[in-house]
Amino acid sequence: MPNNIGQIVTTLEIPVKGLTISEVEKDFILKSILSEIKKIVTAQQFDIWFSCLKIYSISDNSMTFVAPNEFIKEWLYSNYTDLFSNIVYKVLNTSREVIFSVENDICNQVLLAPPVDGLASSGEGSFEEYYSISPNKYYSFENFVIGPCNRLAHAAAAAVSESPGHAYNPLFIHGMSGLGKTHLLHAINNVLISKRTLKTLYISCERFVNHYISTIRSNNWDAFRRLYRNVDVLLIDDIHFFESSQGCREEFFHTFNTLYNARKQIVITSDCPPEAINSLEDRLISRFKWGLLCGIDSPTVETRIAIIENKALLWGINLSYETASYLAENISGSIRELEGAIARLSKEAKITKNCITLDMVKKISREISGNKKMVSIEAVLKAISQRFNVSISQLQSKCRARNLALPRQIAMHLSRKLTNMSLVEIGGYIGGRDHSTVIHADEKITKILKKDKNLLFILQKLEGELLK
Ligand code: ADP
Ligand code: MG
Repeated sequence: MPNNIGQIVTTLEIPVKGLTISEVEKDFILKSILSEIKKIVTAQQFDIWFSCLKIYSISDNSMTFVAPNEFIKEWLYSNYTDLFSNIVYKVLNTSREVIFSVENDICNQVLLAPPVDGLASSGEGSFEEYYSISPNKYYSFENFVIGPCNRLAHAAAAAVSESPGHAYNPLFIHGMSGLGKTHLLHAINNVLISKRTLKTLYISCERFVNHYISTIRSNNWDAFRRLYRNVDVLLIDDIHFFESSQGCREEFFHTFNTLYNARKQIVITSDCPPEAINSLEDRLISRFKWGLLCGIDSPTVETRIAIIENKALLWGINLSYETASYLAENISGSIRELEGAIARLSKEAKITKNCITLDMVKKISREISGNKKMVSIEAVLKAISQRFNVSISQLQSKCRARNLALPRQIAMHLSRKLTNMSLVEIGGYIGGRDHSTVIHADEKITKILKKDKNLLFILQKLEGELLK
């Protein structure tokens, strides 16, 4: 990293008893530690697990590293705590407790430092190195398992990374939490950083909002606007965070227009489609629809098996097909949950010398699903049938009578919320409908509930009873 970057980032200094470590020094220490690690692990292991580490703080007693996600944090704790302690001792000449933390826990507290004059056009490398400060190699296209649930989103993201500004602009990816949206954004970022020809900015919406708020205080709007409007590619994660701030949406609207008119690439993710984001103005909704809108669904069992096998390989643990498929069938929440299960298995694998039995897998999946109350689709339909005075067979029929349409859509909405079934399974069970009908029903009911407090109350009561 060139020195000027160090100077820019020095805005964050962490006072420690008796000493103050500047960002430049932290950077130097990190490089020394990583170069020691490089001597021990393979290049591929280094890229995936270590290259994206940052140092958050160094105190008299401890040193806190920031990993990009829980999965990597857990893996480092399970496999490398001792190694890190030894290397930290070697580099600093005193021992310190090694702590691994996760980016989101820490980095959201750190406001993005405004760029220094001229940085954005200072040429070679500097912009990308600062703004895409830690290319997160773990989130690569190679590590992304493709299935029917995410094929379109993956293909679109790959196309954008190949020819940004030309393929799909904007690209809007939506889906529930833990299904791979952030992974795809970083994957695009990684490809673009490796080409080193374009200015790319990945930012979470939350940090954008924080930066907006700090700019209200500093009044440094020039710097704020220069930062976001001078990029070739803007990757903005979790745009549903805009719900809270109208001023921020206004600012983003102008950023969007500037970039779009200059044919710069914009990629956006959200946990729901644009029209379901509370209080998002029509003009932003319609702009988000100018390009390609694609959803990521919950993965099918086959895709979950493939993901588990992929993750197990990354963690270096041996899983038989039988155990992988047991996990896939019994932990049907988000992929983050599957990763949690594999992290737990890896700890067990250390104790049992890498021998993972079906019993161990059963125990872990019982513990994980035990924390969550599952509701069956039969129970949902029964509750709806009683509350709305229609029969279960009517709900499952093809009949489009108006008195059936609303309860049926509510049944789809609640099934999506409370059961572990995929969209396809829900649609199939409720009258052989396809997944887009379920999405439509879910979105429609979500919209109605925002206005109809009466229905909201009824559904909250139903949910409470089902979850009892
Ligand atoms: P989201 O942003 O949608 O909430 P993330 O992108 O953070 O979800 O994904 C959660 C975790 O699941 C990440 O560690 C990610 O690597 C993993 N993951 C999600 N989808 C896939 C996939 N298709 N293949 C491999 N890993 C995946
Ligand atoms: Mg995310």
